[in-house]
Amino acid sequence: MGQTAASIDANVFQFFTRNPRGGAAKPIDKADVAAFLGYAAENGIGPILAHAPYTLNAASSDPRIRDFAQGVFIDDLTRLELTPGAMYNFHPGSHVGQGVEKGIELISELLLHVFDAVRKVAKGEIATTVLLETMSGKGSEVGRTFEELRAIIDRTALPLGVCLDTCHVWDGGYDIVGDLDGVLAEFDRVVGLGRLKAIHINDSMNVLGAHKDRHEKIGKGKIGIDAFRRIVNHPALRDLPFYLETPCDLQGYKEEIALLKGLTE
Ligand code: FE
Ligand code: FE
Ligand code: ZN
Repeated sequence: MGQTAASIDANVFQFFTRNPRGGAAKPIDKADVAAFLGYAAENGIGPILAHAPYTLNAASSDPRIRDFAQGVFIDDLTRLELTPGAMYNFHPGSHVGQGVEKGIELISELLLHVFDAVRKVAKGEIATTVLLETMSGKGSEVGRTFEELRAIIDRTALPLGVCLDTCHVWDGGYDIVGDLDGVLAEFDRVVGLGRLKAIHINDSMNVLGAHKDRHEKIGKGKIGIDAFRRIVNHPALRDLPFYLETPCDLQGYKEEIALLKGLTE
């Protein structure tokens, strides 16, 4: 992964810890981990961002699905102890009709169990920063509003960060095109910019507030290139790691990285 990232002039990357639809992760290859750590240090790659599987739903009404979520979460964070300083992004969950309040309660409980378990393995503080992803509000997703993320942070009192997905916040109704300053001021007021650790940089196929979550290539969607110029240069964002999740192949990502670097002032 480190070599692939370097081959397209990336200095960060996001990866799935296992099949995004669920299932077991590959066994750890300690020699490969050591090779990666050396390569990443030499080539200035990082921080790396692991993405939890999409099937991880901490807010499910089904205890078996929550057990699966907890097991995967613990396994992923335990594995990530081998690459200290990484980040782990997850979708807070879908409350499937139980209501946002109940969803927040279930997510918070699960996070507390996970941190307890992994702190024992890590014999202290966890080497990974866990990030709540901002969501578009598709279906019964929790995490569409900054207030919902704040409620999870408050309820757990854990050192959680946030990953802001530009497509998701736009689809969720935050006007990052017309009023980026206003949205970031709102984020700061509700969550605190100190918690903002990563950006998923995606254009959107849909209009503001559509609650759809369909990513588009940078500059080809409803967010548009002028907004991305403001995003990559904004003083509150410019020093954060940006991760592309656009519908591209490797060559396409190489071109988008060059495009975004070209926008920076
Ligand atoms: Fe995501
Ligand atoms: Fe995302
Ligand atoms: Zn998405």
